[in-house]
Amino acid sequence: MSQDKIYISYDCVHKLCQKAADQILSTVGKPDVIVAIGGGGFIPSRIIRTFLRHQGEKNIPIQAIGLSLYEDLGTGSDSIGKEVIRTQWLDFGALAQHFDSLIGKNILIVDEVDDTRTTLHYALTELYNDVKENAEKLGKDMGNTKFSIFVVNNKLKEKRAEIDESLMNGGMYLSGEDVPDKWIAYPWESSDIDTHTKLAKEQGNN
Ligand code: 5GP
Repeated sequence: MSQDKIYISYDCVHKLCQKAADQILSTVGKPDVIVAIGGGGFIPSRIIRTFLRHQGEKNIPIQAIGLSLYEDLGTGSDSIGKEVIRTQWLDFGALAQHFDSLIGKNILIVDEVDDTRTTLHYALTELYNDVKENAEKLGKDMGNTKFSIFVVNNKLKEKRAEIDESLMNGGMYLSGEDVPDKWIAYPWESSDIDTHTKLAKEQGNN
């Protein structure tokens, strides 16, 4: 295993989620729904949910979306030169039936890492547009719909896209920990979790 990588243990992810939840609760308040960007956002979403809920309160629903990044397709389908493909998206019909629409909700988007920011830019823009379209269809406006973003790690590097704060309606962007621009090895990807955890501890990421 290479020391050029940053190793993050499960405990580290857990603690960063716990700290982030406190910050979210004390600023934008308890989210109504978590949108997990798969697969890296699934485990952090589940962990942060634990800390966003006070005892006795209802669980916050987690909705999964799937996005894949394709580089160098030369299609220029977006202004940042990378194509994002939706592999899974919100089921607005099921949401309306079992939860409610997202209109007026406090929405938290979760992913494991903000690298070039392409994925987060896409997710925020598309979710915003979908909620807006949905509201228009129902003859409503967006009301207090608020978007926040939590990533376990943000890489300190030049980004290919920016987060459009005007879409967030006072929501926050929050990174558990900013890290140098290196490959981050997460525990759920490891084929040898004992060695992974040992390396993470040696790097102080436990
Ligand atoms: P983006 O460039 O759009 O910010 O990141 C796209 C996706 O690439 C992330 O959601 C993540 O799944 C993957 N990714 C980018 N950098 C890393 C990394 O250092 N480690 C891991 N495990 N995944 C990464």
